[in-house]
This record gives sequence, structure tokens and C-alpha cells, in this order.
Amino acid sequence: MLVSGSEILLKAHKERYGVGAFNFVNFEMLNSIFVAADIAKSPIIVQASEGAIKYMGIDMAVGMLKILSNRYPHIPVALNLDHGTSFESCKKAVDAGFTSVMIDASHHPFEENLALTKEVVEYAHSKGVSVEAELGRLMGIEDNISVSEKDAVLINPDEAEEFVKATKVDYLAPAIGTSHGAFKFKGEPKLDFERLQKVKRRTNIPLVLHGASAIPEYVREAFL
Ligand SMILES: [Zn+2]
Repeated sequence: MLVSGSEILLKAHKERYGVGAFNFVNFEMLNSIFVAADIAKSPIIVQASEGAIKYMGIDMAVGMLKILSNRYPHIPVALNLDHGTSFESCKKAVDAGFTSVMIDASHHPFEENLALTKEVVEYAHSKGVSVEAELGRLMGIEDNISVSEKDAVLINPDEAEEFVKATKVDYLAPAIGTSHGAFKFKGEPKLDFERLQKVKRRTNIPLVLHGASAIPEYVREAFL
């Protein structure tokens, strides 16, 4: 059943479990995600990037999702726009039938990120669609990064609280040291779990760990 991102994540937030978000670019990938969710008896978030949408066509992406969601009515599924880069891109996804959008303005200064996220939240919420935003910068964090460097790229818990209050965003991707891509770390990953805990306490909303594939042991630790 196609539901909003919040419906899936607020339940997970309250009952303290995680939900996987999986990207797709074609039928084979999307179908496999549903087959796996059925075996695991798990809700899922499926997501398409702007590039994947350009490749499939937004009508095809939403259409395939709806057909599979009808085939597996017992699986709660949210369709998320992954790393939306503009208000227009998020609006297009909302209008096409996505039930969740991410606005990633994390490369902009804090105030700009806040203003753009707020604009997307206002539009998406008026259509019953949930919103994810990002604070801090996701990148390859070197082992020997200094504290001042960490503060420059990782999420600031004070800012996170202010950001969530002002934007009313539904869930937040905090940069705590994970990175994208298949080869994530040069050596041991160094994730800032203390920072993660602070952000969780200060915002009390679901948090989204990007770049979490291939590091399941660290994902487990994120719940402790
Ligand atoms: Zn990401």
C-alpha cells in the first residue's frame, strides 16, 4: 500500500527500528525490492534520483511503483525523491504522485537551506506528502580528520533543532561521517554517534542515514 514517508517513519521512530530505502532505475530493481520486502515482512521506502527519473520518465517511475504496490497490498511503501535539488524538482515529484521528497540544499549556506526546505515543506504538506532535508555535508571523511574540520562538515545539533522547528520538516539526514558510493572509507569508518544522539534528542524526529549500505554493523550501532 502506497503511504506517506511519515506514516512509515513515525512508526519506526516510536518503536525504534529502521527502514531501508532502496533506489531503483528500472523494473528489475523495483520488483526485487518488493520481493525482498515481502520475504522480510518489512515496510520499504523506494526512491528515485533526479537522474533515474530523467531516464525512466516520472510517469513510468510512479506507474511501475503503483502497479507493484497493488500486487503487494500488505507492504507499506513510500515513494521518495532522492536528493531533490530544487523546489521545481520536488514539486514535480509531488504532483506526479511521490509520497515523500527530499530537498537537499545542504551545499547552500544554512539560512538558504532553511528557506528552501521551508518552501518545499509548505507545498508538499498541502498535498499530504512528507519531506526530508539534509544538514551538514556528506562526503568521504578521512580517518585523521581534526575536530575543527569535523565541525565544518558534520551536522551541528543546535542548528538541527532550529532548522527542524523553523521548517517543520518530517525527517532529517544528518551528516555524521557516512559517505555515498560503493567504496565508502579509506580504512575504518569514523561515524560520530555522539553527534547523532544529540541531534536525535534535540529534534525528536526520524533521522535518515545516507550512505549506510555495506556498513550494517555501524547501522546497528546507530540504534544504541
Ligand atoms: Zn544520499
